[in-house]
Amino acid sequence: MSKLRSHFRCFRGCAGTYSVLEVIYTCPKCGGLLEVQHDIDALRARSADEWKRLFDARVGTTEWPYGSGVWGKKEWIMPTIADENVVSMYEGNSNLFWAERLGRQVGVSELWVKLCGNSHTGSFKDLGMTVLISVVKQMREEGVPVRAVACASTGDTSAALAAYAAAAGIPAVIFLPEGKVSPAQLIQPIANGAYVLALDTDFDGCMRVIREITHDGESPDSSIYLANSMNSLRIEGQKTVGVEIVQQFDWEIPDWIIIPVGNLGNISALYKGLKLMQELGIISRLPRLVAAQASKANPFYLSYLNGFREKVSVEAGSTLASAIQIGAPVSYEKAVQAIQETDGIVEQVSEHEMAAAAAMADTTGMYTCPHTGAALAALFKLLERKVVKSSERVVVISTAHGLKFTPFKVGYHEGTLMEVESDLANPPVYLPADAEVVRDTIQRRLT
Ligand SMILES: *Cc1c(COP(=O)(O)O)cnc(C)c1O
Repeated sequence: MSKLRSHFRCFRGCAGTYSVLEVIYTCPKCGGLLEVQHDIDALRARSADEWKRLFDARVGTTEWPYGSGVWGKKEWIMPTIADENVVSMYEGNSNLFWAERLGRQVGVSELWVKLCGNSHTGSFKDLGMTVLISVVKQMREEGVPVRAVACASTGDTSAALAAYAAAAGIPAVIFLPEGKVSPAQLIQPIANGAYVLALDTDFDGCMRVIREITHDGESPDSSIYLANSMNSLRIEGQKTVGVEIVQQFDWEIPDWIIIPVGNLGNISALYKGLKLMQELGIISRLPRLVAAQASKANPFYLSYLNGFREKVSVEAGSTLASAIQIGAPVSYEKAVQAIQETDGIVEQVSEHEMAAAAAMADTTGMYTCPHTGAALAALFKLLERKVVKSSERVVVISTAHGLKFTPFKVGYHEGTLMEVESDLANPPVYLPADAEVVRDTIQRRLT
């Protein structure tokens, strides 16, 4: 298997390939995004059954680095990285659980939730960051002058970058939109020792600044390496989420996978992983993908409505789903392919709908972040319209841990969230320390 190779090429198909160890983010010919291309013929040297056996055998192993859900599939991700340069905190292998009670309430018996927030930094961004930082470590070992890694972030990317960079001993610089990130998210890069800059702008504004600071190749500024999902190394790790879901169903595909989207890197990655499995004969068809957007920040939904004839950008309004508060999505073209090739759907949900869906899921034992609420709310709408059938198997990707969004939870149950009716608010009851009163009160609640 040592002959396996991967390199960058233009996503739109311009000629030319580039080493994954080169400082390059976009196609020098057309300015479009790059993607990592694998040698499919070399990968076909193993049969579908051999790949399944190999990957199944690695789940949970302590043999470095294969116990990671990402590096357990190293041949498909970044085969040329030396094992000693892998920077991993054994991300991935997150639980896919049967949300039986919630499913029954909304009328779909096979509702499954992929809890990607049960991860080192509390979101699915760890999956991509382990790959990017491992490549940077190898670059530095080979003498490429990368002095620091940097990202603009709505919160979760910066937490993942700061943690993996700290684990590798590589300096990290974080650009955050001032006041638009939850305190729990802001504190993660601070705790991990990153250099945190809060800019007086929104996410899209941070993205503009960081693009000027992290130039491609030859430029004197190329020593600060861009870690946003525009850098397609991240996509390689993120794509394992789709592979893992199929693996967890004993290599069967679900009918639908629903994911909240902002910058559109993750839905592109989900598709890329599934497509690779199809090319290697592991699955015979693709699940239908649903992209869920907040109606306050819905450029992809608007593009979908116009049949993807033109890319819409908006100024993102303030949404509870802060990680998807993005108006000019970078991975637009890749995401259009993901929707079109899977007969997919883009749906939007209001602030109330996402908060209500999250609260309802919580009453069945989950603890959902607002983005997961958006994905669930999109599902509820599609069930109502009978686009998703009650007999179908549905996976909702839960992208972050609810504990990162405590103000959202508190606000909901205190009834203080804007544009949200807290129908399921469950405030504590204050009582005197009197057993008689306490007993009566409990009795009333239980009847
Ligand atoms: C990053 C993120 C998303 C969206 O991913 P994109 O690649 O930006 O579309 C959704 N939910 C959470 C919690 C995230 O951190």
